[in-house]
Amino acid sequence: MRRNTFLISDEFPRLVRPSRSIAQQIRDVTRLHNDWFKESIPLIASENFMSPAAREVMNSDLHNRYAEGLPGKRYYQGNIYVDEIESACEELARDVFACKFADVRSVSGTVANLAVLMAIAKPGDKITAVGLSDGGHLSHAKMGAIGLRGLRAHNYPFDQKEMNIDPEGACRLIREVKPKVALFGQSVYLFPTPLEELRSCLDEVGCTVWYDAAHVLGLIAGKRFQDPLREGVDVISGSTHKTLPGPQHGIIVSDLTKERLELSLRRGVFPGVTSNHHLHSVAALAVTLAEAKEFGEAYADQTIRNAKSLAQALFERGLDVLCEQKGFTESHTLVVNVEEHQGGAKVAKALEDANVIANKNLLPWDSDPVHPSGLRIGSQEITRLGMKEKDMADVAELIARVVIKGDSTADVRADVREFKKDFTKAHYCFFEGEEAYDYPRFDGDI
Ligand SMILES: *Cc1c(COP(=O)(O)O)cnc(C)c1O
Repeated sequence: MRRNTFLISDEFPRLVRPSRSIAQQIRDVTRLHNDWFKESIPLIASENFMSPAAREVMNSDLHNRYAEGLPGKRYYQGNIYVDEIESACEELARDVFACKFADVRSVSGTVANLAVLMAIAKPGDKITAVGLSDGGHLSHAKMGAIGLRGLRAHNYPFDQKEMNIDPEGACRLIREVKPKVALFGQSVYLFPTPLEELRSCLDEVGCTVWYDAAHVLGLIAGKRFQDPLREGVDVISGSTHKTLPGPQHGIIVSDLTKERLELSLRRGVFPGVTSNHHLHSVAALAVTLAEAKEFGEAYADQTIRNAKSLAQALFERGLDVLCEQKGFTESHTLVVNVEEHQGGAKVAKALEDANVIANKNLLPWDSDPVHPSGLRIGSQEITRLGMKEKDMADVAELIARVVIKGDSTADVRADVREFKKDFTKAHYCFFEGEEAYDYPRFDGDI
């Protein structure tokens, strides 16, 4: 196979032939990466792959252009088609999320969060959010976007058994702190946030309610998770490349429930935290949203079924999957406590050696951030590769051979490669059945 032709070592080599130009080495290593993922089981809960049609527009001249501002009100010439694409993208977003307002110019989820923070809070304001070890995101913490904006963060009490915010404790906190903003949303997201139960105390305090849907945006688009805007949230931000299988980009949607929200969100994005906003990504996002309209419900449905099946299959093989009593998960994510199997870091590394890609994760009771006891697994990408409930037993068996039985990772890797040959095509999209891992390649070396 290709891996051997120009590499010193067969096992995940770092060294390429020194005689090659650096540009050629980059091409080589990029191809290695591509081929590796083609032969691997991708289980990172925040990842996905773009559809063939989205990839096509992503890989276009749009990438080379600038378009500051909004359609029809640009600072550059050359935006005639760009304006059409961006307007269509916003309209699709308003349609998919059934709302009045969408801004599709943030270049990532974190950038969207910064834009929202600029719009709805100012330095010194108080904000409530989910803590990092409870699944909160870096951008919700002092070391990230919230700290950058100079906000003071208070974390909700978390119910470790339910793996969710404790609604009573959270209400107490919100009444006590009286935050300017109440932020919800997690990167370890098993169950919907109890927004209905928090409603009365949020109303009482009158804070702006912000929901970071980065992880679950595709499930919301597919109407299979909670519907935050209908549950009283003022603004939603998100990444567009996790359960929503689009380009690496960000989005903000809202029903403009608060005064001047539209203007301040627009200004937060531009000129707040972006200048040019990656026009190729906007086109790819538009295609992704069009696909979500058509295939999103079936995809979200199968994603959640697969997560539940995989959790059950791992549990049956002796792994400590969290929240068995609650059916493990209502999202794309499941979490395994692997403390008794050498902890999250070693388990994730061993799985990587076997071409099973997942990540270590802090669990709410972990005290040492360097040694997380959890393993986080997502079902969204393997779902788009066509896997169904019956395939989850095979995936679970491959994982269990590494984690529990201690089989050699080289043996398991060989079996993963064989298994994966049946799952290399894109589903729940236009051009269904096209290869998921085929990218343009030029012949010849540099
Ligand atoms: C991933 C994530 C983000 C950040 O997204 P990027 O697109 O990587 O910047 C923000 N919030 C949550 C909850 C996330 O999980």
